[in-house]
Amino acid sequence: MNQYDSIVVGAGHNGLVCSNYLAKRGKRVLLLEAGERCGGLASTYEFHPGFKTSVAQYATHLPKRIINDLKLRDFGYASHKLDLEALSPEGDSVSLRSGSLFGASADDMAAYQDYDRLLDKFAQMFQPFWQKTVPPIGNNSLSEMLAFAELGLKIRLMGREDMQEFFRVIALPMYDLLDEYVSSPLVKSLLSWDALIGTKQAPRSPNNSVLHLLYRMQGDSEICVNIQNLVEALTQSAEANGVEIRTAAPVESIQISQESEALAATGVVLESGEAISAGQVISSADPKTTFLSLVGSEWLEIEFTNRIQRIRDRGMVSKLHLALDGLPAFNGLDSPDRRLLLAPDVETIECAFDNAKYGELPEQPVLEVTTPSLSSSDLAPEGKHVMSINVMYTPYALKEGWNVSAREALQESVVKTLETYAPAIRSQILGSELLTPADLESRFHVSGGHWHHGDFALDQLIMMRPTHGAAQYKTPIDGLLLCGAGTHPGGDLTGLPGFNAAREALS
Ligand SMILES: Cc1cc2nc3c(=O)[nH]c(=O)nc-3n(C[C@H](O)[C@H](O)[C@H](O)COP(=O)(O)OP(=O)(O)OC[C@H]3O[C@@H](n4cnc5c(N)ncnc54)[C@H](O)[C@@H]3O)c2cc1C
Repeated sequence: MNQYDSIVVGAGHNGLVCSNYLAKRGKRVLLLEAGERCGGLASTYEFHPGFKTSVAQYATHLPKRIINDLKLRDFGYASHKLDLEALSPEGDSVSLRSGSLFGASADDMAAYQDYDRLLDKFAQMFQPFWQKTVPPIGNNSLSEMLAFAELGLKIRLMGREDMQEFFRVIALPMYDLLDEYVSSPLVKSLLSWDALIGTKQAPRSPNNSVLHLLYRMQGDSEICVNIQNLVEALTQSAEANGVEIRTAAPVESIQISQESEALAATGVVLESGEAISAGQVISSADPKTTFLSLVGSEWLEIEFTNRIQRIRDRGMVSKLHLALDGLPAFNGLDSPDRRLLLAPDVETIECAFDNAKYGELPEQPVLEVTTPSLSSSDLAPEGKHVMSINVMYTPYALKEGWNVSAREALQESVVKTLETYAPAIRSQILGSELLTPADLESRFHVSGGHWHHGDFALDQLIMMRPTHGAAQYKTPIDGLLLCGAGTHPGGDLTGLPGFNAAREALS
């Protein structure tokens, strides 16, 4: 008899969500995490004596359904507003607060109303789709066809004009879309940000930046800015529902058995050599790690292996954590208690992307800055602060390699950029930690160190995420499922891959 009904590999937030739903339905679940603590990219750890932080800093679209189903509020979960504000070095700023644009010209503010109304309509239309298993293409059952029909109907119900507009803008570069509505460089920069962050796209890239924006605009959501509190609530809720969690328990391999033609997952072997059996293994590790390292290509069809190998998963976001002696003063800002965007115009963003495309460091980095110690005072000693900086467009495969001088050059250019907005900041730095995509890969066991465990790009989305044959959470191996950010609908702290995968595991 199996020791467990299900083993979930990886206690990132998706592994926590998935295992929790299974345990709620009475399954015996073991959750195995390679790292010393739960949370994956959202885990909180000490990066400088007395200073703590997590790589992921905010959850902008965690569905209320997951919060309610898992009773996260009973375990201390709380949400707050988190505005996005774009700054100019001179101290001008424009911001998005509760769905309205502030600080812009009257024309831009009026145009924003139309822009937001349109995109919000599209985002609402897509919203249920992110919480569904998207059927494969071809040979569908009636119920599977209905999933496509539902989306088609929603598009149709928008009316002819909106429908035409939907098909026109969905693949438009953000640059062109914004050009139709607003004129201020800073406003364009502000409005483009959520379409780009974490992706391998710049404002002028065609393809799917608008779709990424709609993904991040999912309606039924609230913002969590205390990530330690989110992970603790998810962990406690999972334990309360009976999930057995083991940290510092890296899985070395997923065990496969073969009876005639059929392959089945039967359990795992840990790096310690311990073997544990289960009726199902559900992996929140990224698809390459799951199939190529934990399963092994000897169990997979060559064509399937090729598709997994082809997944584009080289990250472009680095993280700089700063331990600060006090709260930095930004030009023209009362408090840095928001997401601050340091990118004066979309051309600067585009140029940084161009550098990265050719394996170079950005000449002028574009930064998203948060100060998590403002919402979680226990992250830093009293009076001190933690600053967390997303440095966009830093290539995983830097041409010169991520040697000491490249790391120093990146950190120096980030601090120099910060100084133009917060002149005294350099003197406040007590310690720092720089995590390049290559560091994120090795420290957090994420292939390519990618924000989404694989590019958020049309050929790797929806019924092709991570690739066909594994896009409905089930895989070519019976009893082996995926539940991490590399599956539909993608990364960010949404819990949706874990939620959807649990439904499939129970089906
Ligand atoms: C620099 C950066 C900043 C980000 N900031 C934000 C943000 O502010 N907001 C946001 O919404 N999103 C953010 N993201 C994206 C977000 O962090 C991820 O999309 C999300 O954390 C993915 O969650 P997950 O549970 O699927 O995977 P992960 O968090 O990667 O968890 C997977 C877990 O599996 C474990 N694992 C892997 N292999 C094994 C093994 N062999 N045995 C046992 N365990 C294993 C890993 O240790 C890890 O704990 C950011 C990403 C990056 C890179």
